Amino acid sequence: MSLAEITARLRKAEVAAGRPEGATQLIAVSKVQPNERVEAVLDEGHRLYGENKVQEAAGKWPAFRERFEGLKVHLIGPLQTNKARQAMQLFEAIHSVDRPKLAQTLARLAQELGQCPDLFIQVNTGEEAQKAGILPADADAFIAECRDLDLPVQGLMCIPPVEEEAALHFALLAKIAARNGLTGLSMGMSSDFEKAVSFGATHVRVGSAIFGARDYG
Ligand SMILES: *Cc1c(COP(=O)(O)O)cnc(C)c1O
Repeated sequence: MSLAEITARLRKAEVAAGRPEGATQLIAVSKVQPNERVEAVLDEGHRLYGENKVQEAAGKWPAFRERFEGLKVHLIGPLQTNKARQAMQLFEAIHSVDRPKLAQTLARLAQELGQCPDLFIQVNTGEEAQKAGILPADADAFIAECRDLDLPVQGLMCIPPVEEEAALHFALLAKIAARNGLTGLSMGMSSDFEKAVSFGATHVRVGSAIFGARDYG
């Protein structure tokens, strides 16, 4: 696949879902990819990227930002509180707000820095022990807590269990967002982004379908 093909599929999925073209932002997930591959997609004009580790992003994006205008990089992986300050300075959005302690830390830093990236609350829709995210039953209270902290919550994010029908998880996330008046939905990856669009995704996170398989070597 290529960026152009994925973009075309995304636009087609929007139309099929009766949504306006461009309703969904394509986050090109560049984690682990060699710089040449990322640069090729930058050269094609794409400006929105996703990384799952603070350290890796810190080693990669400051140099690209000097060469390419208008870049936006979103953190889509778990965030430790001791890296929150660095993350707030590196990313335009954080999709992995998943616990009160992190929310409180972000709120304190937002006060201090006078700015805060857009935030998404990660919901562990599959209630998987090994996965980050607030449990669905705790989501409403946690969203309220984040709002009380004046955090700029844009929406919700989920990573469905690999062995389950993703549609169920997309529908659940959309339902939790709607009842809390949130419009942002970060959901859908290489294998299921079109389905996510049909459930209202505003941000899809697509890595391998754009860049090729990740080589963890
Ligand atoms: C790696 C990753 C993706 C992209 O996965 P692909 O299957 O390569 O599209 C999306 N979301 C998160 C949270 C990821 O860590």
